[in-house]
Amino acid sequence: MSVEQQVSQYYDTVLKRNPGESEFHQAVAEVLDSLKIILEKDPHYAKDALIERLCEPERQLIFRVPWTDDNGNVQVNRGFRVQFNSALGPYKGGLRFHPSVNVGIIKFLGFEQIFKNSLTGLPIGGGKGGSDFDPKGKSDLEIMRFCQSFMVELHRHIGEYRDVPAGDIGVGGREIGYMFGMYKRLANQHESGVLTGKGLTWGGSLVRTEATGYGLAYFTSEMLAAHGESFEGKKVIVSGSGNVAIYAIQKVQELGGTVIAFSDSSGWVECPNGVDVAKLQDIKEVRRERVSAYVDEVEGATLHTDGSIWDLPCDVALPCATQNELNGEHATKLADNGCKFVAEGANMPSTADAIEVYRARGIHFGPGKAANAGGVATSALEMQQNACRDSWSFEYTDQRLHEIMSNIFKVCAATAKEYGHEGDYVIGANIAGFKKVADAMLAQGVV
Ligand code: NDP
Repeated sequence: MSVEQQVSQYYDTVLKRNPGESEFHQAVAEVLDSLKIILEKDPHYAKDALIERLCEPERQLIFRVPWTDDNGNVQVNRGFRVQFNSALGPYKGGLRFHPSVNVGIIKFLGFEQIFKNSLTGLPIGGGKGGSDFDPKGKSDLEIMRFCQSFMVELHRHIGEYRDVPAGDIGVGGREIGYMFGMYKRLANQHESGVLTGKGLTWGGSLVRTEATGYGLAYFTSEMLAAHGESFEGKKVIVSGSGNVAIYAIQKVQELGGTVIAFSDSSGWVECPNGVDVAKLQDIKEVRRERVSAYVDEVEGATLHTDGSIWDLPCDVALPCATQNELNGEHATKLADNGCKFVAEGANMPSTADAIEVYRARGIHFGPGKAANAGGVATSALEMQQNACRDSWSFEYTDQRLHEIMSNIFKVCAATAKEYGHEGDYVIGANIAGFKKVADAMLAQGVV
């Protein structure tokens, strides 16, 4: 059987086993496409049903999360944790609270996480979880009751050496705090390493909040430098205005770029003179308001509720909101307007069509599993600090993050070249991430 046929058989099995899970299918298709190249060269990676095992989570948990709202009504949500692969270390990956969450979305995120975590060079496996709970408009007490109920079930399945969740969309420091409190009560021990993204006085790490956004900026700087460019004087679009977006904007502007637009699900803001990051932080992190508040308070900013943020001419585009937010049409528009670099802060924000356009139009593209790995890498640094009861300075932690992101870029670039696809960082990231996990799985036998 040819490698092409073999890979198409793997994919058919995934489709059959996971009906209706379109995001998971999309993530697997992208990785399998790159793996054809390594399977041609190193057929031993097809041994012992390695690829079939890689595409099948080690464990998938779905559970009921009942909680009581402020009116005394009982609400029921669904909780998920997909423990995908533990070859390199304990399962590691965030929790997402958003009404769109379903098992297919959690599985796509968990699958991506395997390769991302491998690329960090740190000993962490891949997992992901969350709930279809919508935190928007909920009171603090409602959020707390939900988080506590979620943890009543999840606590049985996690632990410092087993599975270490963190935040993602809809889960920040507040939610991690409520979940950690309930875990501590149920386990009757202060097990710092069970969750990351904790508060700084109780086991959290400096730089964890900033890490995904800063890491994206560091990765993109390396990509720019590899093509003789830098952020200096560049016009940059960052979609979203959550945790990843805010710190990407901050670091890009520190590095000399001008962020000319950002967004949330209510619209996008055009700000030709750059973003007032302190104002954006106040609106989003403290007041938890919509982007329209920014336009009311900052001169020169305009709100758009139609069209697309990707219609605006820019040099660099950093999608930092959610999956499939940038399609083939958007990518074509970016290319027509002269955009030369795209790097993903979000997970899988570019559709398969968009990636085709990047390749066809010569846009240099950093895929999320490489470009946004700074968050999980710093989570692993938080685990290291917890394990030795230590806390590192901001400068030291940031320096470690910077080194990790530079190294990820170098590994992706070198692997793409080694396998005959110089400059294709999708292929570089997928193959480099895969090889470490695959070697560990082969060494550990059929488990
Ligand atoms: P946040 O919840 O802090 O922010 C998400 C942002 O994206 C908000 O501005 C939100 O707007 C917007 N958004 C979310 N869903 C949609 C949607 N369906 N349509 C339009 N806008 C949307 O999440 P994060 O910043 O933590 O995460 C953003 C992305 O980065 C996700 O893909 C996540 O998986 C990925 N990521 C996050 C990491 C982290 O460390 N936090 C690490 C690696 C990847 P609104 O408030 O209006 O919904």
